[in-house]
Amino acid sequence: MTILSKTLDFSNLGQVSLRMGDNDAQHRWGGQLHHGVTGNPVRQLQAALVAVGTLNATDGAFGHDTETALKRFQWYGDHMDYRLKLAPGTVPASGMIVPYSMSATGVRGVCGQALAAELIAWRGGNFVTTTPLVRLNVAGLSNVEPSDTFTTLSYPSAQNNEILVHGDFAEVVSSTMDDEAKRAKVILDINQAFRVAGIQPSGAVVPPAKKSQHLVGHAVDLNIVDGETTNTAAMFKNGTETDAADTFIEAVKKSMRWGGDFSPADPVHFDDYLDPTGEDYGMNYFFAQHCFHAMHPMRLVT
Ligand SMILES: [Zn+2]
Repeated sequence: MTILSKTLDFSNLGQVSLRMGDNDAQHRWGGQLHHGVTGNPVRQLQAALVAVGTLNATDGAFGHDTETALKRFQWYGDHMDYRLKLAPGTVPASGMIVPYSMSATGVRGVCGQALAAELIAWRGGNFVTTTPLVRLNVAGLSNVEPSDTFTTLSYPSAQNNEILVHGDFAEVVSSTMDDEAKRAKVILDINQAFRVAGIQPSGAVVPPAKKSQHLVGHAVDLNIVDGETTNTAAMFKNGTETDAADTFIEAVKKSMRWGGDFSPADPVHFDDYLDPTGEDYGMNYFFAQHCFHAMHPMRLVT
């Protein structure tokens, strides 16, 4: 038997867990009708989700959008170790990145008392969810550089020599890729990294896959430069690439995918493959794309 006070609000959910199908106007909360109890907990939950940046609007009815927004917040808490702190009345673009950890809740799309308390604490501290992307300064790497034609995506905080990639992939670029390039004595000329959805890349060898690894910051396109020779896509196609290029590719393929193995082949492409059908891809896609458009600041990784 669920215990409810006569008035129920989001900050005092008691033993009720808000879920899909709940509706303030119908007095349905925790999957049951509660006549004689008043309140707008669904609307208040939605307002909190809007405030933390995972939902667009409130309507008092817990449907798919609210469930998705709640799952985004739960996923964020389970996967991210920083968030943005805003000065009151300011936009995320001027926010400050601060460390954060939330005890794991699982991504269930149901809001109980503990999660409600967490959301209220976020609102109280003016915290919002933010991007998994980072600015990787490749000037700090020995064998990776932006190509002459590399253009930094129009992004206020991005500087020369910085590429935008997922935080996890930044480690792959700065460890595996740079190390193996050093070993093979080649230079990696980066042409493209994170890609904004809906924008056609210039000079792409193949049309971008709908669920490209670039859209979640888990891929780079690059030319392998071996001394005076730049290994182009055409050279791989003809089998005239240099031995050092082959050495590099064989080495990184132990833990990465090379586009030269794709059909059709895309020899400039390297990624560490986030399964596009999985939950992590969808969540990273949302936060990376959404926060890019909202111009969130990004952590600098060197
Ligand atoms: Zn690519």
